[in-house]
Amino acid sequence: MLVVRTIADLREALRPARREEASIGFVPTMGALHHGHEALMERARTECDVVVLSIFVNPTQFNDPTDLERYPRTEEADVAIAEKNGVDFVFMPSAEEMYRPGSTIEVRLDGPLVDSLEGAHRGSDHFHGVTTVVTKLFNIVQPEVAYFGQKDAQQALVIRALVRELDMPVRIDVVQTVREDDGLAMSSRNIHVKGRDRERALGLKAALDEAQSAYDGGERDAAALTERAVAAMKPFEVVPEYLAIVDRVTLQPVETVEPGALVVIAAPVGPVRLIDNTVIKDTAQLTRSA
Ligand code: AMP
Repeated sequence: MLVVRTIADLREALRPARREEASIGFVPTMGALHHGHEALMERARTECDVVVLSIFVNPTQFNDPTDLERYPRTEEADVAIAEKNGVDFVFMPSAEEMYRPGSTIEVRLDGPLVDSLEGAHRGSDHFHGVTTVVTKLFNIVQPEVAYFGQKDAQQALVIRALVRELDMPVRIDVVQTVREDDGLAMSSRNIHVKGRDRERALGLKAALDEAQSAYDGGERDAAALTERAVAAMKPFEVVPEYLAIVDRVTLQPVETVEPGALVVIAAPVGPVRLIDNTVIKDTAQLTRSA
């Protein structure tokens, strides 16, 4: 495994793979790697000839300077995890390497995909930062497939739209959310969730589970289902920043809940802001066909 820090070095390192028309799989991350990231690497390893992992805490997608400052950075451990998962190249550029002095480029999508939910609460500049850095990374790595997590459902949709609108020859593969044994969605930010807050963090999963069981119990009204999900967070002393039931492709709110609807949630827990989501399943159907 090779660790490279410059764009020129990565291009050079990937030249033989490109010459041999090897398939390149790409996993973009901000580091502080955990099992969620590992699931992406594993998928890439089984599907592609060459696996590139990037670790870059992208300053342009942070709306909160304190969040950027305290974002965990665990370079040495990350390199070991990448190696263990069979990554071929780790790309770890500096902010100056990615954004040269005088750089003014911004790649942005507009509309509800970037303005709603995370965009509404963090500001749509968050997604403009994401689409800008992902475009640059795709141009640098030129992967055949790029792997993203369902944990950041809206981000995955934004990236799909980006690739479609810019006619980028990259397939986007979305990998299921990896959770701790107690259901908490893994996240680099969990490192800051300690003590009582760690128990409170389970409020997000409790809300998602309640949405599904309300659906299983026959509730189809989105407003009523949302209310029940919010109530399920109360014992955890967690108040959502938003909790919404939306169409899983357009992210527009739905009135009637059908299988495939996306329940999305963001909530502050102690010093961090956590997000999670689930797709409503038709469990009755699952039981019938089992
Ligand atoms: P991040 O380093 O948080 O920017 O995440 C890098 C990639 O890993 C993104 O595509 C995330 O959606 C994905 N990811 C983060 N947490 C998880 C998780 N718990 N399960 C699956 N994928 C995840």
